[in-house]
Amino acid sequence: MASEQPSETRLKTYRGSCHCGAYIFDAKMPEASSLNASECNCSICSRMGSVWKFPVRSADIAFVKGDPATLTGYAFGNKAFTYKFCPKCGVSLMTIGYSQPPKEGEEREPEIALSLRAIQKGQGLDIWKMDLAPMDGASFAPVYEPPAYTGPEPKAEVEGGKLYTGSCHCGAVRVAVKTKPLDKTYEGPIYDCNCSICGRHGPLWIYPNKEQVEIQGEENLGKYTFLTPGWAKTFCKTCGVLVYNQTQALTDEQLSKFSEDVRNFIVGAAHMKPINIRILNGINTKELNVSRIDGYSRPPAFAEPQP
Ligand SMILES: [Zn+2]
Ligand SMILES: [Zn+2]
Ligand SMILES: [Zn+2]
Repeated sequence: MASEQPSETRLKTYRGSCHCGAYIFDAKMPEASSLNASECNCSICSRMGSVWKFPVRSADIAFVKGDPATLTGYAFGNKAFTYKFCPKCGVSLMTIGYSQPPKEGEEREPEIALSLRAIQKGQGLDIWKMDLAPMDGASFAPVYEPPAYTGPEPKAEVEGGKLYTGSCHCGAVRVAVKTKPLDKTYEGPIYDCNCSICGRHGPLWIYPNKEQVEIQGEENLGKYTFLTPGWAKTFCKTCGVLVYNQTQALTDEQLSKFSEDVRNFIVGAAHMKPINIRILNGINTKELNVSRIDGYSRPPAFAEPQP
């Protein structure tokens, strides 16, 4: 009889990274088909669209670039777990902590949930093709109270419109959006994009005009720009939650560097303030008509960061 292989050898090594490439790691995990990833509905995971592999042993994660101690950490509630993200591009890499705190004098490895969104493409792991196990983190105490938006209403008039408010997780950034009701009847595009940056951050985008959106705490946003000058993915510097996509009109010279379809998109979106609706209160994202967009396949090709 063939002897059972030790489970160690059945693990595959995946390369992962944030978007800007400041942090690159190798993680040993099972093949995608038996990975048992989960999707959690708690206050922070639902804002981040997190897809976790839990647990991963710390011995199975090796950073090949960047010191994980310099990742920004965010903890809340009973502070059992700390959410770690890149301070430059805001991409979440992992959560580390203890479901049960160690007793005094007890030596125990912390538990790690690894963000599968940070795993680089081309390694046979596609979260759109995985069966994600639901995890009911929202039911764990303490109950999360969403921070209240207290700023002005957006100026735009929207026929049949509704005012939504929301925030990052820590409340440093709060938003108000006036839009057609975000329910089954919503006809504007709602995009779940797998491009190099959206795939890592996990937002669901809608595309309101700038006058439909108000932001409180703009100064608390980190802004990450690549490819398109003046455009930035904005995320809370404290908790890492992605908020909106900053756009601006480009000069003809700047536009000339892009292909025609990208140029058209940039020109068309310059007056918009695309917002991540995962941060809005009172929305059931499961009932919305979300379109998956294969942004990753659109040129220019993204060079996955290597050390
Ligand atoms: Zn980064
Ligand atoms: Zn969660
Ligand atoms: Zn925050």
